[in-house]
Amino acid sequence: MKKWVYFFGAGKAEGDGAWRELLGGKGAGLAEMTKIGLPVPAGFTISTEACDYFYKNGKKHPPELKKQVADNVAKLEKVTGKKLGDVQKPLLVSVRSGSARSMPGMMETILNLGLNDRSVEGLAAATKNERFAYDAYRRFVQMYSTVVMEMSKEDLEHRLRAMKQRYGVKEDTAVSAAGWKELVGEYKKLFKEKTGENFPDDPMEQLWGAVGAVFGSWMAEKAVTYRRVEKITGLVGTGVNVQQMVFGNTGDNSGTGVCFTRDPSSGEKVFYGDYLSNAQGEDVVAGIRTPMPLRQMAKIMPKVYGQLEKVRVKLEKHYRDMQDMEFTVEEGTLYMLQTRTGKRTPSAAFHIAVDMANEKLITREEALLRIKSEDIERLFYPVIDSKVDKKSLANRIIATGINAVPGAAVGKVVFSAQEAEEWAAKGEKVILVRRETSPEDVGGMAVAQGILTATGGKTSHAAVVARGWGKCCIVGAEGVDIDYKTRQFTSKGKVVKEGDWLTLDGSEGIVYSDAMPLVIPALTKAYTTFMDWADETRLLGVRTNADTPQDARKAREFGAEGIGLCRTEHMFFTDFEHPERSHDRQLAIQEMILANDKESRVAALNKLLPFQRRDFVGIFQAMDGFPVTIRLIDPPLHEFVPHEKAKQVELAKELGISVETVARRVEQLHEANPMLGHRGCRLAITYPEILEMQVRAIIEAAIECQRGRVKVLPEIMIPLVLDRKELSIVAQATRRVADELISKAGLKLPYLVGTMIELPRAALLANEIAEVAEFFSFGTNDLTQTTMGLSRDDAGRFLPDYVDEKKAGVFAADPFQSLDTKGVGMLMRWGIEKGRETRPKLKIGICGEHGGDADSVKFCHQAGMDYVSASPYRVPISRLAAAQAVVEEKQSAKAKGKSKR
Ligand code: PEP
Ligand code: MG
Repeated sequence: MKKWVYFFGAGKAEGDGAWRELLGGKGAGLAEMTKIGLPVPAGFTISTEACDYFYKNGKKHPPELKKQVADNVAKLEKVTGKKLGDVQKPLLVSVRSGSARSMPGMMETILNLGLNDRSVEGLAAATKNERFAYDAYRRFVQMYSTVVMEMSKEDLEHRLRAMKQRYGVKEDTAVSAAGWKELVGEYKKLFKEKTGENFPDDPMEQLWGAVGAVFGSWMAEKAVTYRRVEKITGLVGTGVNVQQMVFGNTGDNSGTGVCFTRDPSSGEKVFYGDYLSNAQGEDVVAGIRTPMPLRQMAKIMPKVYGQLEKVRVKLEKHYRDMQDMEFTVEEGTLYMLQTRTGKRTPSAAFHIAVDMANEKLITREEALLRIKSEDIERLFYPVIDSKVDKKSLANRIIATGINAVPGAAVGKVVFSAQEAEEWAAKGEKVILVRRETSPEDVGGMAVAQGILTATGGKTSHAAVVARGWGKCCIVGAEGVDIDYKTRQFTSKGKVVKEGDWLTLDGSEGIVYSDAMPLVIPALTKAYTTFMDWADETRLLGVRTNADTPQDARKAREFGAEGIGLCRTEHMFFTDFEHPERSHDRQLAIQEMILANDKESRVAALNKLLPFQRRDFVGIFQAMDGFPVTIRLIDPPLHEFVPHEKAKQVELAKELGISVETVARRVEQLHEANPMLGHRGCRLAITYPEILEMQVRAIIEAAIECQRGRVKVLPEIMIPLVLDRKELSIVAQATRRVADELISKAGLKLPYLVGTMIELPRAALLANEIAEVAEFFSFGTNDLTQTTMGLSRDDAGRFLPDYVDEKKAGVFAADPFQSLDTKGVGMLMRWGIEKGRETRPKLKIGICGEHGGDADSVKFCHQAGMDYVSASPYRVPISRLAAAQAVVEEKQSAKAKGKSKR
């Protein structure tokens, strides 16, 4: 018989921390904590497979489940010595969701289950606190009604407010037992009215209702949205954890908290968290009351704090990673309710990985696997430019709060998640301002630049979700008084309206009025150490795609070891150093294209020569000592000439030719399918004078640099080659021009002539191509386009459906972002093998966008390439992915070795 339910309690568990897929993260964590002897209330987990079954079988449970749950309830009753629904010693349970990947607050929870008119008396007697018992009861009825029966929260809240009014009390804490008892009665009446049924008294019926609601919440819109935003795919469902209740709200000797074994914002090795005295379960996460920091708890409950410290050490040693834990203190006794790998900011991720390796808690290799590409991307968080005058900044402070997630953000104020989404869709940058956030708000939070909440602590919903995304967030800004109706907030006597600009400094927890200029900060020491480890480990070289000296310099700062692709045609559009002078170049290239004969074409090209030469000098200087791959002009010529009448008139005037001539030439250049047209090396075949000018510019720049003691290693690259003969025509012309210039200069200047492999035919005939080419660089943008028959420019219209799991789901990822290793990859492996058959030491790289995608880089390592080339900001991602490829290869070789033995 299939097992659907797994027990944990009294030091034993039917599963462990590795069973995340089956038990969900929470269930696996509870099992593991139980096993290692931590104080965990007993319970059982219904597996994620049961949820999968539920959805695959018309929302029916597996037939064996009923008995298995009943058996486990009996076991739980035995272990706890209490009974569900009992009037003497009632057992109360919590019912919580938990999938293999953490989805904070996205799914449902029901607390205090098991209460009815009889067991509530038992609870009152056991705790000697009738008021507490009836408060627990009304909370349960309220949760059950809204979560399981989907009744309106507002209807129930309304009755709560009315009851308080009748009793003349303001705070919940002032309500008497009689008040709560009365409210329970009213809730039940309302329940009957709305559902036509009596509120279920039978605890088993309550339990099944709760299980159904947890399963249902897996497919609720907010959970589906969260998975989409977080790119969580491939999970079968949520587990359901049924666990003995412990109470943090029985008085001042009780409470509940969330803590991290290290600071999740900075990564520092300090115990960090929030504690809320006399509170139950979700109160901390909900962010309705502002909790106290953990160090304050140390003062009021030193003994429990000491125990918690011990748990912290034990758990971190055990899991060998930073943990995020939930705990409850019931009458001075500590209970652990959850542990999971803690979400952290990107800079904390580096700090923690480096510290843990230095502490020998993990190896350096393990540390390398702890950082994801997104962590690197998010590391370059903006901060407020330090050039901004301190005084004018201070004058703009309109609120302060808790610095939940660092970095700065600028945007226009909106007060609802829906508005955030609408404004962002129109291209506006927004700051989402809320009293608190709830899981319904995730869509709006995802598109906002930053999040500001008036309540909540560092572990409130807003803080936890924003931290996972590395999104600037300030919580607990208590001075911010929001009026959702009039769409404005007041703080420090100032009024901020919807649409006003705001700047958040999430590192300091300060809110400024107006839009402040932001800059990207310097990198931390932990980052540098970590990246050094990556560089020591990797075998692949990492170059950059850069067309300007500025980009080249930036890429060097990011660790690029050369240029893998310089797209020279970009230099015809823009003068990057003096953008205001770009027009001169554009005019010269247009003159060249419109020329009627070779002579006037050469004259126009000669005007372009100095521009290109100067750009190349700048790039060689930036890359002093590193190779620079320069690609000869690629795009179709018609991209350079104007298509609108007015612009054609203007151009004709500037060049002193007739408008008809311009229009005719533009017409002639038109291609029905330019991506497969007169582009790439085909241009050099028909207009060899373009090639001559470009090679001259490259070599003259190289000579000038070499004379100036800059070490140059030029690599001239021929694009879109499909044949050996074609390549040899272009390569010969290149060498002729280059050699003549070099010998005239009377110096030694080694250079290479190679090709891009971006057409399937070139990959297939790589052995022939390698007879001429001194290096290969895979242009995987075009190779993907031509192998898959997907237009680079147009596929965006339907590709989203192709990668959407809920729609066609043909591909796991966009093949223009992440390499199609199966198809395009097969051609690449073939090309590498064949190329090296002809030329064993053939240098091979990649310069399509995939060179900056972690999974694609790992493929390039496996395929035996020499280097990858990525855009400047992605260079660190490629450096790390290349190192991870080495570590993963070692690990899988080790695993294979083990399985053979
Ligand atoms: C490529 O095709 O992969 C490439 C790098 O060239 P481009 O993107 O300029 O066509
Ligand atoms: Mg290309």
